[in-house]
Amino acid sequence: MSVAGFVYDERMLKHRCPYDDSVAESPNRIKIIYDRLTADELLNGCIHIPTRMATDEEIELCHPKELIESLQQLRTQTDHEEHCKGRDLLYLCSDSLEAAQLAAGGTIEAMKTVVNEKCANAFAIVRPPGHHSHGNLPQGYCIFNNVAIAAKVAVDKLGLQRVLIVDFDFHPPNGTYYSVHNDSRIVLASLHNYMHGAAWPHTEDMDYTAPGNAVHIPLNRVGFTGRDYLAAFHHIILPIAKEWNPQLILVSAGFDSALGDMGAVSQAVEAPTYGHIVSLLNKIAPGKVCAVLEGGYFPPSYTECAAMTMRGIRGQPLPAVRFQDKPLNPVMVETIWNCLVHLSVKWDCIKGHLEALQEAQRRASLPEFVPRTPTIFLGKEMRAHFDQVIARKKCRTREWMPQRSAEETAAIVAAINQYVDQYEYKTEKVIEKYEERLDELRWCQVVSSEAFIQSAQSTLMFYQRFKTYINSTDGKLLIGDRENF
Ligand SMILES: [Zn+2]
Repeated sequence: MSVAGFVYDERMLKHRCPYDDSVAESPNRIKIIYDRLTADELLNGCIHIPTRMATDEEIELCHPKELIESLQQLRTQTDHEEHCKGRDLLYLCSDSLEAAQLAAGGTIEAMKTVVNEKCANAFAIVRPPGHHSHGNLPQGYCIFNNVAIAAKVAVDKLGLQRVLIVDFDFHPPNGTYYSVHNDSRIVLASLHNYMHGAAWPHTEDMDYTAPGNAVHIPLNRVGFTGRDYLAAFHHIILPIAKEWNPQLILVSAGFDSALGDMGAVSQAVEAPTYGHIVSLLNKIAPGKVCAVLEGGYFPPSYTECAAMTMRGIRGQPLPAVRFQDKPLNPVMVETIWNCLVHLSVKWDCIKGHLEALQEAQRRASLPEFVPRTPTIFLGKEMRAHFDQVIARKKCRTREWMPQRSAEETAAIVAAINQYVDQYEYKTEKVIEKYEERLDELRWCQVVSSEAFIQSAQSTLMFYQRFKTYINSTDGKLLIGDRENF
């Protein structure tokens, strides 16, 4: 079967925030994506996989029964908002539970259709997203962890032995990590905002040193492009994926690392990158890639990203990526080295790659790479404060995000149009013999110094924002308001 599948069900539009229209995770996200894929004829000939509600038994593979029961007990709008005051960035309404059950059930059905070879690859266009939720902690717009639940169903109910989860959402997959990190049948690989712990959720588990089956590639700088992301895939994620030889690849497909999506703290990934990532993963597990929507909040950007992802899912031509001549960013160089050193203990492919890189250092009369120790971690005070706000049920439930100005919106749209205008649909390979590209990871004093200063600049934006809030009497942060605390 060579036809791809997709999940889309308008009942998931009913989950909305009844007390704040400004939330970024708005119901229309999935409709706008569905309309774009339809307009581009990217769903033509694909199987529309029916959505159903996940059963309690399936949800309980990742969450306690008490979570489902506590959500069932909420009746009024006040009940819902009060519940969210004890959660990190969450909104709920009377239709939220059903939408969350549909998102998890739709993801399970997409996964099953792929595993049973009734379709080749699938894209589950679902919401609410899932990758921050774990245990009894719905948070970060996420209620049930759709991808973690689907992974658990795949190993526990379908008997799969090797599942790979790839998460390229801007934010860390903290929920997925805590749901699967002790399960030896599941490997989680993720690139995510970290900023040495100064970025949410301010936990050291999101660093490259994370124990368990995690391949964490922490991002300590804003402005990384697809060129940087693809280097991380070629040097780390793809070799590990090949060695792991997964029977299923679930992709937590959040598009908030795309150019401009997160305002001043954005990464700068161009949409075709996502299509190439899916296409590269498809080479490792042909027909067994199931992408599941997570974040992505700027419509002109996430529609483009979703269209490119669907092209990757379908094996259609993608715009050529021209980054061969661009140098790899020094912060990414250091992060890749750090990850390689940490992961070389567990993965033979990484051990071999690391040895080749260290040999290249010696041949160039440069010292071998050694990670900076102790690692930098700025999140301790932030996490402690956030935990206090949550414990006192003082979390903000409205107006989390500053709204974009018209000028800012126009500038991002222009930047997106600029690369879209240069699309050339070619069957050109992303890069030939990438594993031989050792030079781009050359580690010397200049690269080390540049990595330090660029990382510090980005990290300071997050750190200073928290310090300003803590030292104020009326400041606001995503998590809370000083005046109410
Ligand atoms: Zn996100």
